[in-house]
Amino acid sequence: MEGEPEVAVLRLGHRPGRDERMTTHVGLTARALGADRIVIAGEASGPKGTIEDITDRFGGPFDVELTESYRSLLNSWEGAVVHLTMYGLPVQNLEDDIRDAHADAPLLVVVGAEKVPFDVYERADYNVGVTNQPHSEVAGLAVFLDRLFGGRELDRQWSGATHRVVPKATGKQVEPLEDQ
Ligand code: SAM
Repeated sequence: MEGEPEVAVLRLGHRPGRDERMTTHVGLTARALGADRIVIAGEASGPKGTIEDITDRFGGPFDVELTESYRSLLNSWEGAVVHLTMYGLPVQNLEDDIRDAHADAPLLVVVGAEKVPFDVYERADYNVGVTNQPHSEVAGLAVFLDRLFGGRELDRQWSGATHRVVPKATGKQVEPLEDQ
């Protein structure tokens, strides 16, 4: 978020065709809940386009990149690497340490699709479980980011939007923004 060290999400294991919607939702969740950037390993031009369209319409900053060599990103990352996995240590036990690590350095948050290669577990500074029950990368990422930011992400300010949602008790309203 603005004025803070970067938080990037690395999406591993995207399977073209099968994972289009899930990978899109990982990206939209990352954007909505305070991350600055997503890097998707593999051929994910569909999700990339959808996430960029949403960013163009509802604001950023938020970047989407594709990579064929995620290990070079992992190995060169200058900051802590968090891997979200049902096999990890409880998020509630690690969140303070991770927040401290992020206070003055960027953070890379890794989420998988199917099986994540074991070297990712070894490279991670923190293997983090959001419960030790199997669920979804979207849910794990959402809870983790909310814990990381302590709820501040809910008041994130957006720039460059062409539209905004007007909160309503009932009904739906989207209004165009001027001066963009
Ligand atoms: N058994 C798989 C594994 O963890 O290797 C579960 C794959 S799950 C369908 C896809 C992704 O969701 C995982 O790679 C992980 O990032 C995330 N995930 C699933 N359950 C989680 C949990 N309890 N805590 C944190 N992340 C989780």
